[in-house]
Amino acid sequence: MKDYILAIDQGTTSSRAIVFDHSGAIVSSGQKEHEQIFPQAGWVEHDPHEIWTNVREVVGLALTKADLTHEDIAAVGITNQRETAVVWDKNTGKAVYNAIVWQDTRTQKIIDKLGGDDGADKYKDRVGLPLATYFAGPKVMWILENVEGAREQAEAGDLLMGTIDSWVLWNMTGGKNGGVHVTDVTNASRTMLMDLTTLSWDESIAADMGIPMSMLPEIRSSAEVYGQGRRGGMLPEVPIAGILGDQQAATFGQACFEVGMAKNTYGTGNFMLMNTGEELVPSKNGLLTTVCYKIGDKPAIYALEGSIAVTGSLVQWLRDNVGLIKTAPEIEDLAASVDDNGGAYFVPAFSGLFAPYWRSDARGALVGLTRYVKAGHIARAALEATAYQTAEVLDAMRADSGVDLTELKVDGGMVVNDVLMQFQADILDVEVVRPKVAETTALGAAYAAGIAVGYWDGEQDVIDNWAEDKRWRPDLDEDERARMMRNWKKAVTKTMDWVD
Ligand code: ADP
Repeated sequence: MKDYILAIDQGTTSSRAIVFDHSGAIVSSGQKEHEQIFPQAGWVEHDPHEIWTNVREVVGLALTKADLTHEDIAAVGITNQRETAVVWDKNTGKAVYNAIVWQDTRTQKIIDKLGGDDGADKYKDRVGLPLATYFAGPKVMWILENVEGAREQAEAGDLLMGTIDSWVLWNMTGGKNGGVHVTDVTNASRTMLMDLTTLSWDESIAADMGIPMSMLPEIRSSAEVYGQGRRGGMLPEVPIAGILGDQQAATFGQACFEVGMAKNTYGTGNFMLMNTGEELVPSKNGLLTTVCYKIGDKPAIYALEGSIAVTGSLVQWLRDNVGLIKTAPEIEDLAASVDDNGGAYFVPAFSGLFAPYWRSDARGALVGLTRYVKAGHIARAALEATAYQTAEVLDAMRADSGVDLTELKVDGGMVVNDVLMQFQADILDVEVVRPKVAETTALGAAYAAGIAVGYWDGEQDVIDNWAEDKRWRPDLDEDERARMMRNWKKAVTKTMDWVD
């Protein structure tokens, strides 16, 4: 028996490779950031070739740090930033354009045109998603419409499209020399092109978007052997056996296997997913219906999701664009230098507003300012924004599912922040729980791959390995909580109708 599982976590800001042992503990890891490209207001791109180079580099780092080779690895799992779309030439392996990132809003006009008289909910019954700039299909449509020669090449069958999982898998398994062109059900469920019930591509939606079927990857489960690492690569013959979009991977790694269990990830954005079992629950309150995971031949498990575009990236923005802090962790001390938000509310609608509003026309607002407000209050308002947005998503989750959460499992880069986590418990009036292994995204992908090859027996191993690290209990007066939520909602109304 080989001793370890390797997870590749290709995230929005960085790529990570993490080696896990049988207890689900981290043995070693490698990480590298990639460039964020902002060619115009509202546009966000990544260079897919840089991403692929970084993936190889971090895999090499993770292996050499622990003195391991491919022979020690039983299987590889891939998890990825979702919705980000790549279109490439299958004969040369070259991308025809940069990857268009999930936060990018350039497809607004395409979205409006696709919706026509039916509006944003045109495809919602089939794909579980409202028409929004967030999703992958319209990004591919934009590339075909705007990159010279792309449409002709696509129609000739020379181009492939994929979310980042497909791009990484295709390259890992040989690229132009026989690379496997596959995606998993969770990533496919973020394209607007997959029918949630049949788990296959909806040809009529693809036709509406002008995307030839020959471009689309084959849709497979989240845990099965898709292919092997290419000969001559770093992981020759190692089975690649798990793919989950990052948020679904975190839900898996947090052992949310029962109906009604939920997790919230605090990264660049925030994403709360609640397991709804084999039942597809349509949302009436601005949430998404999506695939949670599918283990091999077992039935698909669905989820309700509340996606928030900007949470941790507001901290980055205060650091990089404003210079309020020098490092992300400094925001905690600055926020702790004051007792409250001083009346300031910061709605970071930088990519419009996602759940539960879905308003692409919204833009950010900092309101409630007086001469009293200091840097500390702004830092606090920025952290509070994450918690209020989460509170609105949790309310929608309760309304859609009828489940009253007794605790919220959290993970992601922001959950080291005590001020934020305490305020989150306060404003939700729900206990907030952080697990010992905070890298739940990579862990979830590792579990999916490990289960597929028999390294782990199944979900019970994930449950047994999960352990609590810290718990925050609510401690805020009910009237005060209600007042702050009221002010927040008022602030949100100030962000709408900014884009004509
Ligand atoms: P992703 O997987 O989306 O790339 P991570 O889970 O690595 O993101 O989280 C990184 C985010 O967390 C960044 O946006 C960063 O600004 C934020 N962050 C990191 N440390 C802190 C902190 N101590 N307090 C608040 N936010 C933080």
